[in-house]
Amino acid sequence: MILKELRTSFKIALSGLYPSEEIQSFFNILSEKYLNLSRIEIALNPERVISEEVSEKYQKALLRLKNYEPVQYIIGETEFYGLPFKVNKHTLIPRPETEELVEWIIDTSEFRIQDFGLLDIGTGSGCIAISLAKNLPDSKISALDISDGALKIARKNAEMNKVEVDFFQTDILNTKTLPKKYDVIVSNPPYVRELEKKQMRQNVLNYEPDSALYVKNDDPLLFYRVISQLAKKHLQPNGKLFFEINEYLADELTELLKSEDFKNIEVKKDIFGKNRMIKCNLNEPA
Ligand code: GLN
Repeated sequence: MILKELRTSFKIALSGLYPSEEIQSFFNILSEKYLNLSRIEIALNPERVISEEVSEKYQKALLRLKNYEPVQYIIGETEFYGLPFKVNKHTLIPRPETEELVEWIIDTSEFRIQDFGLLDIGTGSGCIAISLAKNLPDSKISALDISDGALKIARKNAEMNKVEVDFFQTDILNTKTLPKKYDVIVSNPPYVRELEKKQMRQNVLNYEPDSALYVKNDDPLLFYRVISQLAKKHLQPNGKLFFEINEYLADELTELLKSEDFKNIEVKKDIFGKNRMIKCNLNEPA
């Protein structure tokens, strides 16, 4: 078989299941992994001969794509903030919105102080902690998660990206204290209400970890309440709290943060125009 035949049969196999641009993008992602070819090289080498062994890899991937498994889990990796990350069923696949949260933290230039300490709560693949460690080299970054499976991947990701992050296991809903005080606490906790599940695609519903995504309809801000209460005790004076948020819950969360005495509460929209992140601090800056 040659590359263009493989591409044609791949497209036919998935047509009707995904939009054609998405099928093309799957093909490119798989080809980069299995053939080590860039998008341009794929386009320029239609006659390239594909071995039986490689063709089998595509067939296996096709079966998984037909079941709506995310392509990132199939190849076991993705990119976030320009860096490579391993992902598996224990970790959420990092979202572009979360890159914007990272950007917001990096842009808060006062964090370029020596040895500033940051804690990422519910780190998953480690994407927030690791991309910050890479871009804020003077920082001391810690990150926790409830899932040992996620922490294993996060540690590999830190190693792969050559940064030091202190990862540790904690169930944030059942802890009274954190190891120290931080200049920044950041979290992208579970925030999708059960009632929102019907708007979600099968690839998310069936494959991504429930514990990273969903909260009960009657207490959707549970993680935010617990984390902001802990942050009150564990932020340095003038320390800042950053969250990724549910687009529908910005007002409720603002009220909650006010009631916990946080100041300068700022909601920011993502590239899709949705309320997606929030920043605040404990004391008025001097
Ligand atoms: N933004 C993610 C989604 O829509 C949810 C992330 C989260 O719950 N923290 O799938």
